[in-house]
Amino acid sequence: MTALTVTAVTKAFGAISVLEGVDLHVPARGITAVLGPSGCGKTTLLRLIAGFADPDSGTIAFGDHPVFTAGRSVPPQRRRVGYVPQEGALFPHRTIADNVTFGLARQARRTGDRLHELLDLVGLDGDLASRYPHQLSGGQQQRVALARALAPRPSVVLLDEPFSSLDASLRDGTRRAVMRALRAAGATAVLVTHDQAEALSLADQVAVMRAGRLVQLDSPAELYRRPRDPAVAGFVGEAVLLPADIHDGRAATALGTLAVRGPAMDGTADVLIRPEQIQVHETAVADGVDAIVGEVSFYGHDAALRLDLVPGGPRVVARVPGSDLPGAGAKVWLTVTGEVLAFSCDSSCDNYHR
Ligand code: ATP
Repeated sequence: MTALTVTAVTKAFGAISVLEGVDLHVPARGITAVLGPSGCGKTTLLRLIAGFADPDSGTIAFGDHPVFTAGRSVPPQRRRVGYVPQEGALFPHRTIADNVTFGLARQARRTGDRLHELLDLVGLDGDLASRYPHQLSGGQQQRVALARALAPRPSVVLLDEPFSSLDASLRDGTRRAVMRALRAAGATAVLVTHDQAEALSLADQVAVMRAGRLVQLDSPAELYRRPRDPAVAGFVGEAVLLPADIHDGRAATALGTLAVRGPAMDGTADVLIRPEQIQVHETAVADGVDAIVGEVSFYGHDAALRLDLVPGGPRVVARVPGSDLPGAGAKVWLTVTGEVLAFSCDSSCDNYHR
């Protein structure tokens, strides 16, 4: 499959600007997640790539071939895009075999080889081919939808929140099966989601969108470690933001003096601490900061503790193993491991304090 390049794309509906100069490059065989809150323009971007609507300006290219430039738009059926919508949108009165092979030439439909290759690719048993969509689980239906999208060997595969209608028990297995199939097919894929865990765990790179703009494009690890601003930090994971005074690469905070990641200017800043960096001790430790446990949220494998720094300090959250938890009201001591990230204060800094 080919690389996908979106350059300076804008789109407005009437007076409302929905995309404002979006640049996105998805390398061939790469999987990019477009992550953003509801209404930020994710689906609109996907629809423009598919050719269901045209940008107002900018260009879209598949490999070296422009599919949209000013005054010229390749129609959707000639873009060779595989599209997987939120709910598979399978044809209810056609069998799984007919659904999967719908986009194939008659000859390929007749032999059945490609059908079985595709069912195998998405991890479905060939025996399901004669069933109808309502005889499959939601997760199986989404795999069929992917098989149908991959059948004509598309240039690019677009997936619009494909797992959001599945309940939690099906979602994880379906996600992994779909991603395995995309990788085995060497697909260049764009996955739209508002679920940060999904974006971070499945994609090679994550494009974070906010109000019609792409604000950061990075690998999942880099995005989590070095979000470009506090809003992105909070969107891709839980974030503890504390006011700090930075001096010589060290930040003086309510949780002690902490090493700052990368170059940081001296002066006031907000620092980002991830909850898993905060260690909770039930007995006093050197450099430990006193806190009182506020709320305990138990998730099984781990837990989140909301902690009030004393006296009268801010509330922070720590992620800790799920065993031997202190109860609400317990006195504990906190330390921080690893480096923190500093966001230098500008006029909007107060908005970030929690
Ligand atoms: P969600 O996650 O809720 O699906 P999204 O990020 O995919 O949101 P879009 O569906 O791209 O967002 O919509 C972006 C904005 O554009 C929204 O405010 C929406 O109401 C508006 N919009 C989308 N399509 C149209 C249209 N055809 N006409 C007018 N406004 C539209």
